Amino acid sequence: MKTLFKPILMVCLCACACNAAAQAPDEKLNEYASHIVAQAQQLKGYPVVEKQRGGNLAGFYEWLQEKGLTYMHLNNAGDPFSENFAVSSHPLERDVIEFFAPLYGFEPGKFWGIVTASGTDGNNHGIYFGEKYLENLVPDIKPIAYVSRESHYSNMRLCDLQNIEVRLIDVDDMGRMRPDALRKALDPKRPALIIFSMGSTFMGAIDDQDALNKVIDEVKPIAVYRHVDAALFGGYLPFTKYSDMVNIKKCRYNSIAISGHKFYGINTPCGLMITTDEVVKAQTSFRPEYLNSNMFMINCSRSALNPLKFYWIIKNVGIEGLSRQANELLINTEYLKAELDRIGWPAWKSEMSNTIFFRRPSEEVITKHVLARGYHAKYGDLAHIVVMQHVDREAIDNFIADLLLERP
Ligand SMILES: *Cc1c(COP(=O)(O)O)cnc(C)c1O
Repeated sequence: MKTLFKPILMVCLCACACNAAAQAPDEKLNEYASHIVAQAQQLKGYPVVEKQRGGNLAGFYEWLQEKGLTYMHLNNAGDPFSENFAVSSHPLERDVIEFFAPLYGFEPGKFWGIVTASGTDGNNHGIYFGEKYLENLVPDIKPIAYVSRESHYSNMRLCDLQNIEVRLIDVDDMGRMRPDALRKALDPKRPALIIFSMGSTFMGAIDDQDALNKVIDEVKPIAVYRHVDAALFGGYLPFTKYSDMVNIKKCRYNSIAISGHKFYGINTPCGLMITTDEVVKAQTSFRPEYLNSNMFMINCSRSALNPLKFYWIIKNVGIEGLSRQANELLINTEYLKAELDRIGWPAWKSEMSNTIFFRRPSEEVITKHVLARGYHAKYGDLAHIVVMQHVDREAIDNFIADLLLERP
């Protein structure tokens, strides 16, 4: 009897010990964990994907654990397109950029890019590379950055940080940069750094690059660089019939930034920044001996884990899976808009957008569904929903049912 029970007891003790180890020795940490898990059930106001069973990253952390990488130092300091840093995932980072670049219309062998720390980090590189590119063309005259008032605040912040003069351009009622306002603001005598918003944060406005490029062609500033801030929409547009909207051949931009934790569904902040070899050639490279690598990037240490996550998604979800998700997301957005119209709740959305803004509901509904608030001079108090992969029909129906309860 004794010998038979011993192993069972051992197993029990071991299981208890393991459970105890998973419980952090601090109430605040454990509360944080419970809070995140609870919020994830309802979140609709922010462009991130709440994952059921891992979403696009399903299996990734099990693989990491199995291979003994969980606690390894994973660092991609250096240029993935130059010599590789000895302990980096640079070759995989390069594969990631080589997979995505053609989706945005870049010519084979004529692009450069990195997996960034975020959409903001991508904009930072786009703006910085743009400024250096323009300085190379016209050394004596400082450029002016043109960006719409609806643009993400990071663009204004980054221009401020980089000491670049900014002209904020007025927008139309749907948040798009107005071509006539750009025409008025454009100074032909100074280099122009144009920042297009492909999906503004609150209204989901898509700047009409064709109309704006026409204005730029007519005013002809002495040098032009175009950066596209496509943090959210740049994720799904390449997989839809609207792919031309982020295609470099169609839009003539010089660099693009996309977030990885938005449409691509990565669970920690990251992104992509892709540009042409022509732009990279105009950059001053710093070459610290100890890294044995060109340093075009602003950051020295960069995550080697995020490229692995992108690579995992390429292999496990692929173009087919991403296309399915992108198109489902647009269908569900149409469904939410139709449902809001059906119940007579004032709501607006741009074509190609997965973001719907609508008359602001009660605080209870905002809190329960984790919505983002906004205000617009014409439409008044607003809230918005970003229809990501987890905002499916069931989630939409539940939300509409809650709105119906409070309709007067
Ligand atoms: C989210 C977003 C950003 C900021 O991206 P982060 O990845 O959060 O740094 C910038 N621009 C637009 C249009 C965005 O939607």
